[in-house]
Amino acid sequence: MSSSRVLVLNSGSSSVKYQLLDMRDSGRLAVGLVERIGERSSRLKHTPLATGGPTRESNGPIADHDAALKAVAAELAQDGLGLDSPELAAIGHRVVHGGKHFTEPTVVDDTVLAEIERLIPVAPLHNPANLTGIRTARALRPDLPQVAVFDTAFHTTMPESAARYAIDVETADAHRIRRYGFHGTSHAYVSRATAKLLGRAPEEVNVIVLHLGNGASASAVRGGVCVDTSMGLTPLEGLVMGTRSGDTDPAVIFHLARVGGMSIDEIDTLLNKKSGLVGLCGDNDMREIRRRIDEGDARAKLAFDIYIHRLKKYIGAYYAVLGRVDAVAFTAGVGENAAEVRAAAVAGLETLGLAVDGGLNAVRGDEPRLISPADARVAVAVVPTDEELEIATQTYALVRKTN
Ligand code: AMP
Repeated sequence: MSSSRVLVLNSGSSSVKYQLLDMRDSGRLAVGLVERIGERSSRLKHTPLATGGPTRESNGPIADHDAALKAVAAELAQDGLGLDSPELAAIGHRVVHGGKHFTEPTVVDDTVLAEIERLIPVAPLHNPANLTGIRTARALRPDLPQVAVFDTAFHTTMPESAARYAIDVETADAHRIRRYGFHGTSHAYVSRATAKLLGRAPEEVNVIVLHLGNGASASAVRGGVCVDTSMGLTPLEGLVMGTRSGDTDPAVIFHLARVGGMSIDEIDTLLNKKSGLVGLCGDNDMREIRRRIDEGDARAKLAFDIYIHRLKKYIGAYYAVLGRVDAVAFTAGVGENAAEVRAAAVAGLETLGLAVDGGLNAVRGDEPRLISPADARVAVAVVPTDEELEIATQTYALVRKTN
């Protein structure tokens, strides 16, 4: 088969991240990023991995997503990887919210676009940008399959007992209020990669996946199927994150409105952008927080302790949900790099069969690896996530099936 390349696009409101992969060996041919779209100081950074050439950077205004994608296409063409190549099999798009409807990666047509648009009220920050990316790519290559891969899809298997909030059913349904979960592409990839690390089939293992990046979420995966996750209607629920509060008493919002005199938009900004680690200590980068703790900074220490306490509660909760746990997998920026977070999260959980080996935990690396002692009942693992590869894999599998 000659068409073996997949372009993965992750379109944000003012940015587009992209990777071109060759699915014969899952190798990356090019990676890049367009930032500050719509501003005078837009920037394009392109690394042509296929040619081994240096990273190219260009600065200057890029007016909109259409101009951004055309600029990306020009960079790729310069490396002989143009979007008009017959070797390009499809474009895979990250779409944040697929609601209840999209349980699988889906080839985009007008009906699919309309449905993604209908979900904008529950994903006002993400879906509009994702849609713009799809529309732009479609206009550029109308003949090519455009595949939407949804962050929510992996979580659509959650039972109603986990997916519903305990609020009036009619009101919830009228406004499509339920727990959708996010980071699903990462949870799917990492839970499968963890099974592989254990030398077992995904159907045989129960895994707690801890995706700890600037956004953070946990999931309980039973035999390859998600049965619970910590994010909800929006990515605000659950763990303490870089700038998001995670779980709070919903009455905090009434209190801030009635007593604090804040508007709904101000509270939204407070909880999504000014809370979490940044709200607690002024920093959201775990490296900086660890540095401050080493210097004796009490606020940084409290922020770390709150972060760990919440994480530990979710590990315990998902242990109870799963009944039997074969592995706990740490992933994303914090999970893959912060050994202190991993050690603290499982400290004291020895009676649950959970422990890390100090030596193994301190080793750095890019490969999936076990950090639990050899005789541990539950494997603790570091499993680097690869959302772009997962999007490309799902996209390629779908277009091969439908062609
Ligand atoms: P992500 O959203 O997955 O890109 O993760 C970004 C976050 O990972 C940053 O905000 C840091 O808190 C954290 N991070 C990245 N590198 C390190 C590191 N070497 N040590 C500790 N934390 C890190």
